[in-house]
Amino acid sequence: MTATQTHCPYCALQCGMTLTPGIPRVRLEPADFPVNRGGLCAKGFTAADLLDHPDRLLTPLVRKEPGNRESPLREASWEEAYDRIVTAIRDSRDRYGNDSVGAFGGGGLTNEKAYALGKFVRVALRSSAIDYNGRFCMSSAATAANRAFGIDRGLPFPLEDLAGARTVLLVGANPADAMPPSMQYLDAGRANGAKHIVVDPRRTNTANGAHLHLQPLPGTDLALANGLLHIAVRAGHLDESFIASRTENFAAVRAAVNSYWPERVERMTGVPEAQLRETVRLLADGPSMILTARGTEQHSNGTNTAQAWINLALALGLVGKPFSGYGTITGQGNGQGGREHGQKADQLPGYRRLDDPAARAHVAAVWGVDPAELPQPGRSAYEMISAIGEEGGVRVLLVLASNLVVSAPHTANVVDRLRALDFLVVSDIFRSETAELADVVLPTAQWAEEEGTMTNLEGRVIRRTRALPPPPMVKTDLTVLTDLAGLLGRGEFFTDQPRAVFEELRRASAGGVADYAGISYERIESEDGVFWPCPSEDHPGTPRLFTESFPTASGRARFIRVDHRDPAEVPDQAFPYVLTTGRNMQQYQSGNQTRRVKALTVALPEARAEIHPDLARRHGIADGDLVELRSRRGAATLRARLSDGIRPDTVFAPFHWPGANALTDPALDPHSKMPAFKVCAVAIARAGTP
Ligand code: SF4
Repeated sequence: MTATQTHCPYCALQCGMTLTPGIPRVRLEPADFPVNRGGLCAKGFTAADLLDHPDRLLTPLVRKEPGNRESPLREASWEEAYDRIVTAIRDSRDRYGNDSVGAFGGGGLTNEKAYALGKFVRVALRSSAIDYNGRFCMSSAATAANRAFGIDRGLPFPLEDLAGARTVLLVGANPADAMPPSMQYLDAGRANGAKHIVVDPRRTNTANGAHLHLQPLPGTDLALANGLLHIAVRAGHLDESFIASRTENFAAVRAAVNSYWPERVERMTGVPEAQLRETVRLLADGPSMILTARGTEQHSNGTNTAQAWINLALALGLVGKPFSGYGTITGQGNGQGGREHGQKADQLPGYRRLDDPAARAHVAAVWGVDPAELPQPGRSAYEMISAIGEEGGVRVLLVLASNLVVSAPHTANVVDRLRALDFLVVSDIFRSETAELADVVLPTAQWAEEEGTMTNLEGRVIRRTRALPPPPMVKTDLTVLTDLAGLLGRGEFFTDQPRAVFEELRRASAGGVADYAGISYERIESEDGVFWPCPSEDHPGTPRLFTESFPTASGRARFIRVDHRDPAEVPDQAFPYVLTTGRNMQQYQSGNQTRRVKALTVALPEARAEIHPDLARRHGIADGDLVELRSRRGAATLRARLSDGIRPDTVFAPFHWPGANALTDPALDPHSKMPAFKVCAVAIARAGTP
């Protein structure tokens, strides 16, 4: 038996693990890889359960009566499944044009699959209709980073830098639950006297260990960041030399934060002035880091909110120095790589813009097509879903690695729109809630059954290695895309060999922002991953960005003036409380995988709504009661968990189960098109109360 070094199928930390194929089960052990150093969380330790899980899809499924989604799904051959898919694609293109067929990808796809999916839609389908679930994940911080730094890499420094920072400000980030092995770096810093400050409306496990916990009203983070910068200006904590030599446009931001005086910010956010001042004092005692995550980004003003934290980091001179800087903590396994290779509506490989003529020419040459053939940018993820059933909307949709019915906001709208499709194909390892609506369901290979690369939260490109073959009737997504392209007459442009796809990706990314040209499977293996950008094989890779300049036109980072505005939906008499959503330690994303792992469901069998005892008392709710949450879009019944760690005006619900997103607001950030998952107005009552 040969042991295989590979990586966890779940989050963006991409912990290393060793798999030993065995009978009856694969044995899984943590590996001493740089990010996890022998640690794994409960999700990682139990990941092998996915491989031989009894719920696993082992054959394609099709509707018993073609065209009737009320008829049951039945097992089918690949030939029959492909025949139905290709017939639906051809019919739709003949009747409604190429853009009537589209794809929805995922941040869990390997770099090779994300690349192949983007190319499949542009070259095989010749459609503009593609986007992916990363739009719901960290598109706001990505947009803000591109505006300020000219580049978007979650952490522009290696994870181990966290251990060397004297102060770490975590905003809307809960790594203690989301990626526990990463806490060893924060814990090491704390053991050496570092101070951690957590900004979160609830006292998470991360906040529990922090020196300071700021609990702002959800939706007021931008005002908080501007208020901290106001104090830093008044207290003389600016790094004037850094601002003068490395940045531009500070004057506009300085003027903007003038009106965010501490008393006003305390009123807006609910954070006491003393905590604001203490936060600035600690940040000024560097080296310091500001790390944001979904709590900052998933708002109708998420891009500007992330921007406000970047402004603060730049003004304090934190960026581009060791143990210091601004970073955003990516969530999905390939959340970073998934947004670099062309599965976004507006993007080509190498993080190139689809509307840039030079980028189109470069990528078209690698693909061997005429640049004029490449479609223009299409709709963002939620806009694409919402346009289904409308003139010019998608009518046939392929969904890969995404469980939209649970993960997208306003479930009732998503289900309605998916039902309005002429044809829905879902490729997954389990029969997800989205697969239940499909015309055809395709069983796909899993993480340990295929080769490929992922790019973790640090921009480190790592390699997934095949430990065992997929079950006989299961194909990889690369094979499915190659087969479908062949049946559509475009097979010569595609291959299902991951290494060949990666070699092409290297050429397509060469010269782009996310440059993988110098990265090979062999280098990844021998160097414990390679950090992009890496433009040539003799380039060492780039663990730390911005040390000397920024990849902007001027070489300087840009301050961007941003101002607070209220969330798209605020509490009122009918819906008097704020709902905010987030993660539990035992679950991952929509839960399609982790809700099936016994050890994880035993530890946490169901979604719990976190409610402050004062709020619970007002509504006669006791710990463990079922409560009904209602918003303008729907209702969900969850079991109450009383906690004095949450604001009394705020309710928390995890999004890993169906329910939370029945309530959430699909209002989109105008820059990133991120939905406002983190704030909507709800009413609450004990279930059964009239
Ligand atoms: Fe897997 Fe993330 Fe847990 Fe590591 S922290 S074991 S990558 S889920």
